[in-house]
Formats: sequence, C-alpha cells, structure tokens
Amino acid sequence: MLVKRNASLLPYNTFGIEASASYLVEVHTEKDLIAVLSDSFYGQLPVLLIGGGSNILFTKNFDGLIIVMCMLGQKIEHIANDQVLVTAGAGEPWPELVDWCVENNWGGLENLSLIPGKAGAGPIQNIGAYGSELKDVFSHLYALDLSTLEIKKFDKDECRFGYRDSIFKNELKQKFAILSVSFILNTKPTLNLSYSGLKDEVLSVTNSPSIQDVAEVVKKIRRRKLPDPLETGNAGSFFKNPVVGIEQLQHIKMQYQDIVWYPIDESYCKLSAAWMIESCGLKGYQHGHAGVHRNQPLVLVNHGNASGAEILELSGIVKRHVYHKFHVLLEEEINIY
Ligand code: FAD
Ligand code: NAP
Repeated sequence: MLVKRNASLLPYNTFGIEASASYLVEVHTEKDLIAVLSDSFYGQLPVLLIGGGSNILFTKNFDGLIIVMCMLGQKIEHIANDQVLVTAGAGEPWPELVDWCVENNWGGLENLSLIPGKAGAGPIQNIGAYGSELKDVFSHLYALDLSTLEIKKFDKDECRFGYRDSIFKNELKQKFAILSVSFILNTKPTLNLSYSGLKDEVLSVTNSPSIQDVAEVVKKIRRRKLPDPLETGNAGSFFKNPVVGIEQLQHIKMQYQDIVWYPIDESYCKLSAAWMIESCGLKGYQHGHAGVHRNQPLVLVNHGNASGAEILELSGIVKRHVYHKFHVLLEEEINIY
C-alpha cells in the first residue's frame, strides 16, 4: 500500500479541479483500509473517503488523508424464484456493474445506466435518474465505522434514503466507509418507463422492450444531453430540485405561471431548478473559467483551469439570482470540500 504525499487530486475528480491532498492512498482491500486507519500516524489525520470523484468539488487543498475506495468484487446469489441478490465491492465502477446486471437480465438498475462513479458512493446520495432510485432495489450494505473499526450492516430503513439523500450525507457523514452494497434484482423484470420522454423513445425502438432496450435508450439520451467529464469538467447536477409546499408553488405561480414542477404528494412538489436558473437568464453564463452549462443549467462546468473557489463563486451567483426572483434557496447536491 503506497501512501502518496502532496498528491494531486486532478485525476481524482471529474470537475478537473487542481488541488492537492497532504496524503492519499488507494485501498483495494478491507484489510488495507483497517491497516491505514489503525496506523499511529495516518490514523490520526482528518480523513476524506472518495470513490470516482464525480460528485465532489474541491475548493481548497485537503490537509489530511484522502482514502480512495477501490475494493472490487461482484457476487450473485439466487434468493427466490424470480430474485437474485447482487453484491458489489465499493470500488466497482457503477456503469460496468449496471451493464453486467443488464446483460444477465437481472432487472432493476437499468434506468441508472451510465451514472459515473463507484458502487460504494451510490447509497450516499441514493443515486437516481429516469424515474428510478437506488433505494428501489437496495437490500443492505456493509460499512466500516471509522472510529471503532467495527463492521456494521445497514438495512434499507437504517440508511434513511431520501431524494438525493441518506444518513451518510447527514448524521453519519464521513463516519463510515461503505465496503459493499447489495441489491435485490428481478429475473422477470418489470420496466419502469414512467419518466417523461423515456417511454416514447423506448417504444420508437421496439414494441416489446426489454431492460436491455431501456438501458440502451437511457445511455443514448445521457450521451446526447449531458457533458462528458472527459471533455468538459463537471460533477453532474450541482443543485437539487427544491422541494416546496403546494402553497408556495401557488404563490410562485401567481407571478410565473409557466414554472415547471412535478408533484410529490398532496402537500409537496418538486420545482425544476434548471427552469428557474434558465429563467434568470443564466443558461450558458460564464464566471471566469466556470460556467453554467449551455444545455442543462443544473450542471456547472469547468471551461478549463477553473479553480474550485471560482465554481463555488458561480454557485453563489446562481443561488442569489434564483432567490431574488423566486424566494427559493437552491441547495447543493454535490459534496463540497
Ligand atoms: P465521489 O464523488 O467520490 O464521492 C461522493 C461522496 O460520497 C463524497 O462525499 C465521498 O466522501 C462519499 N463517498 C464515496 N465513496 C464512499 C464510500 N465507499 N464510503 C463512504 N463514503 C463515500 N448522480 C445521480 O444521482 N444521478 C445521475 O443521473 C447522475 N448523473 C451524473 C452525470 C455526470 C456527467 C456526472 C459527472 C455525475 C452524475 N451524478 C449523478 C453524480 C455522481 O455520478 C453520483 O453521485 C455518484 O454516485 C458519485 O460516485 P463517486 O464514486 O464518484 O463518488
Ligand atoms: P431532464 O430529463 O431534462 O429533467 C430535468 C429535471 O426535471 C430533472 O432533474 C428531473 O428530476 C425533473 N423531471 C423531469 N421529468 C420528471 C418527471 N416525470 N417526474 C419527476 N421529475 C422529473 O434532465 P436531465 O438532466 O436530462 O436528467 C435526466 C435524468 O438523469 C434525471 O432523472 C436526472 O435527475 C438524472 N441526472 C442526474 C444528475 C445528477 O448529477 N444528479 C446528472 C444528470 C442527470 P430528478 O432529478 O428528480 O429526476
């Protein structure tokens, strides 16, 4: 196990931000993780766990130890007639894990195709896309308590999943290292085509779609709409879609009738943050080397050489404009360090 000193974080974040960590180590086994955390020097440093760095903004150098979770491993068990339990090591690349399940006709993850990052980070924000969320097929996870070095099993309720949220983004933030994640998938899958536009595009390919067709269409839409971090640095959606009460929606609608929103239940709805940012005239807006993406305003981008501080300043500008116009405070989805 090689602990690097003054390590550049450029290869470890999809925003393409240049920052450094005092120490950085890639851990490939549980034993290595426990060894580094038990070390009388490294174990005393502030620790930051990362996977693929696709949901992170580094705004300064990290004075401590960054642990890159690289544990591999995929396992499948038949648990019932139509069900399999799929378990992935924290370091498994998420897109490949989904492809493996789709190829084997284990249904449930296909709408989450091509989300960047590692499996271990999936539960942190209960990753979601195209009408599905990780929690829909989640069974349990194992995680290492960073203070006691004991391994604990978390079932679904204990993870307290919400919209782009979990206990690991709140009370247990940076307190547990997720080691593996298990999902219950279906060998006789039911398709989820509820997301607007998905059904039409899938049915334009075939009249009797399979999960393979759904995965292909989701990938096609994503490639068409979202900036590729290899070409333009970004971390996906920078902000969450704000959840507000129906009364607040009615109040906003008195002034802005065409605001885009989605119902959650009788009392709450989700406003389109992208629509609000665009309506503030900020689509494609640039602040130094940082910018609001020209097609998807929820995504902030690094046009090259942007610093993390510059991206953070841009996010402040966006939040101010949206608040002044709609009295809605946008909340960051990504993790800022
Ligand atoms: P990182 O960015 O490395 O880490 C994210 C957070 O989790 C950090 O706080 C980190 O400390 C913590 N963490 C990471 N691994 C562990 C672990 N093993 N144990 C404990 N803590 C850990 N997200 C969606 O939900 N839906 C999308 O459709 C989506 N699309 C995206 C598209 C693009 C182009 C990009 C760049 C990002 C997108 N994202 C999306 C965001 C991102 O891909 C996901 O949040 C992903 O799960 C992050 O994985 P990661 O391994 O890169 O995590
Ligand atoms: P899109 O389809 O143009 O939709 C824009 C936003 O509107 C999304 O954030 C989505 O909310 C919401 N939305 C659209 N149709 C909806 C419906 N029928 N019901 C409820 N909400 C609806 O956006 P896109 O950028 O191309 O993204 C497509 C999907 O991939 C979305 O699910 C999005 O969340 C996901 N995605 C996520 C990230 C990320 O970093 N988190 C990045 C890219 C894409 P939701 O976000 O709640 O789905």
